[in-house]
Amino acid sequence: MGRGLAVIAVLVGGGIVVGLLATARPPHQPIATRPQEPPPPTREEHLREEPLPEWLSRLVSVAQPKLPSGEGDWLTEHPEDGQSLAQHRVDCKPVVGRAVYLIATSELEQDEAARAVIERLEPLLAAHFQLPVKRLPALSAAVAGKSERPRESGRQWLTTDILEALEQVRPADAAAVMAITTVDLYPDPAWNFVFGQASYDDRVGVMSLARTGDLQTEPTLVLERSYATSMHEIGHMFQLLHCVAWECPMNGCNHQQEADSRPLEPCPHCLAKLMLATGLDPKQRWTELRAAFEAAGLVRGVKEIDRELAASQ
Ligand SMILES: [Zn+2]
Ligand SMILES: [Zn+2]
Repeated sequence: MGRGLAVIAVLVGGGIVVGLLATARPPHQPIATRPQEPPPPTREEHLREEPLPEWLSRLVSVAQPKLPSGEGDWLTEHPEDGQSLAQHRVDCKPVVGRAVYLIATSELEQDEAARAVIERLEPLLAAHFQLPVKRLPALSAAVAGKSERPRESGRQWLTTDILEALEQVRPADAAAVMAITTVDLYPDPAWNFVFGQASYDDRVGVMSLARTGDLQTEPTLVLERSYATSMHEIGHMFQLLHCVAWECPMNGCNHQQEADSRPLEPCPHCLAKLMLATGLDPKQRWTELRAAFEAAGLVRGVKEIDRELAASQ
């Protein structure tokens, strides 16, 4: 009886443990050698490889594939399949309106620093979506806070109350309506909180400034986070589902650290979806958004656009 040695590698808790295993085999029996077949592509790889228009595919060189999700991260808690370009083409409804509307809740209107955030958001969102951004009169706190619940940190409002109220005030030319409040939000009694929520079909959404930072001492951080959340939610209103292929502002996020680690610029595939949804010209968008990032002091956004511009040449 001959003896052979096989090396086995086992994945244990994320680390590779290599062990030696003695196996018995009859003498003179050839060891079967079969060429190793490559593993089939994962869903994420498949999405990343979906063809893009030629010049847009150059952006792949500066895009970061989605990093593995850790404990407590969105995809660990809420596994999702993502959305291919082909699927978005099926899901995407033509943009019926030609403006994005922002609407503050009435308690925000009393807060000068919070009002300033919305004013500074407008040119950023207008450049990102390449659509005019308009304002609606404030939404009453009595309506928005119909199902208020107390929390240790203060109070929370139910997102679905606000989304329902927005459907009643949506103007005919609205491509999207986004409410902004200073009160923390919950989407369902079972959840602790949400940064924001949107309805894909009704093109309405809401976000809160409650977890964006200190309005007085860190206004630029608050602006950056508010921009990231509002453009994510408005992206949903253009039928973009969460991105699982790349590090992207359309990634779902479960906590602030995860939200802050997302880039400000969409991945190539989500940019292609936005182009389909709004008809935007990406080169014009880069020019205007770079200027808006610079004016707002969002240095990270300027750097990301410079990388995209260099890769697209
Ligand atoms: Zn989302
Ligand atoms: Zn993406």
